Amino acid sequence: MFKVHSPLKWEEELAEVSAGDRNISDLAVASASEAFKDWANLSPQERASFLYRLADLIDMEVPNIARVECTDMAMRYESLLNRVIPRGARNFRAYADLASEYQGRVWDSNGTTNLIQRLPAGPTVIITPWNAPFMLATWKVAPALAAGNTVVLKPAEWAPLSASILADLVDQAGFPPGVFNVVQGTGEEAGSFLTEDPKVRRISFTGSCETARKIGIEAAKNIVPFTAELGGKGALVVLQDADVEQAAITAAGQYDDSGQVCLAATRLIVADEISEHFLDCFYQNVDKHVLGSSFEDATTITPLIHPDHLQRVEAFVDRAVENGDEILRGGKRLDAEQLFYEPTLIKPASNNSEIVQNEVFGPVLTFQTFEKEEEAINLANSTEYGLSATLFTGSMEKAKTLGSALRAGTVWVNCFLVRDLSAPFGGLGISGLGREGGDYALDFHSDLKTLQIRNSDDS
Ligand code: ADP
Repeated sequence: MFKVHSPLKWEEELAEVSAGDRNISDLAVASASEAFKDWANLSPQERASFLYRLADLIDMEVPNIARVECTDMAMRYESLLNRVIPRGARNFRAYADLASEYQGRVWDSNGTTNLIQRLPAGPTVIITPWNAPFMLATWKVAPALAAGNTVVLKPAEWAPLSASILADLVDQAGFPPGVFNVVQGTGEEAGSFLTEDPKVRRISFTGSCETARKIGIEAAKNIVPFTAELGGKGALVVLQDADVEQAAITAAGQYDDSGQVCLAATRLIVADEISEHFLDCFYQNVDKHVLGSSFEDATTITPLIHPDHLQRVEAFVDRAVENGDEILRGGKRLDAEQLFYEPTLIKPASNNSEIVQNEVFGPVLTFQTFEKEEEAINLANSTEYGLSATLFTGSMEKAKTLGSALRAGTVWVNCFLVRDLSAPFGGLGISGLGREGGDYALDFHSDLKTLQIRNSDDS
């Protein structure tokens, strides 16, 4: 068993959850393996009917899931209720549609017909992080099930509760036993027992680079493809011709949920000429933030997930100060009892400062200015990460040329966090491996096969 605490009331114990040991992990993979053949043999349309039922059940349970998730990991209730949890249902519907509509490519060459087929790959282990547990679990489970794979989900031990609700809903939707399994527990135990099992044929992971490297070693031992969606250090580049007010609103919005978002644009890179005006607008918007309980509609800044994480954020800022970086705003925790950290802005001593180069995963942004656009792109592309970048400009031409020059899996121009579920999603560099989203995830969860048939002589 392991104990779960709510960031909203850390001193109280919220729940005790059974920790998967080797035996439980083995059983889960065995159950996914046993269920695989029949699930894989269903047509995509038959599988889709289960996914649609599950989506309908999620829709009905949104307030309940939102309440549990809010208590468990302190994301804003309003946002969970209206956007994040309903997205779980959308994930299942989107993949039910996509898998049903799939037509393998067919073409003639060398007197033969080439037919490309997708074969379900096998039992799949999915490992998720604590920062959007339900949404990310459904985002990863939906394509796996739609493609005909069976799943073992291992949620993060800091926010495990909504995964167990998902398992109940899968049951209610009438999925065959063994198609979807949840193993709770720590990464070092349950996580590694699952990823090292040779019966597993796909691993889909979201979390830290450090863990991805360990999972990669296990995947390599068994020659298993894996995808990894890892951290980010997104740039927010504001050109001289940009709508400064809008850019400042987006920049201040990076403190929402205390910045515990891998896609966050944490490096503000602003044209010299407009930097004062930008900072004025930015501070005005930061002043509007409301720190409070995640259940209050007005709250925008929530507690950090865990005391250890708060300490990590504090240590980052302390090291920045030692390094000679300048704190422009914030820079300390808010009160000794609770898990809040002030919205913080830092002007780094150099672009090599740790605070610029490494992911903090908290309410800490950096501020840099540039004279030439080329310099802005170089700064934006200067970290090892490459998950997302954001550009504000008034020119459609620059939207395309500079948007193309930004090195990231997703680049937003004059918008932020807009997502089309059929577009590829993933990171460059140490931000990730492989792509989720649309057909890209279905291809990952399948073994692509070429069936090549010689054309008959009279055809
Ligand atoms: P974060 O920094 O977001 O907590 P982690 O990579 O530590 O990221 O955790 C993400 C997920 O990976 C969690 O579900 C965690 O339990 C799991 N995990 C951690 N270590 C391992 C491991 N060695 N093998 C498999 N899963 C792991």
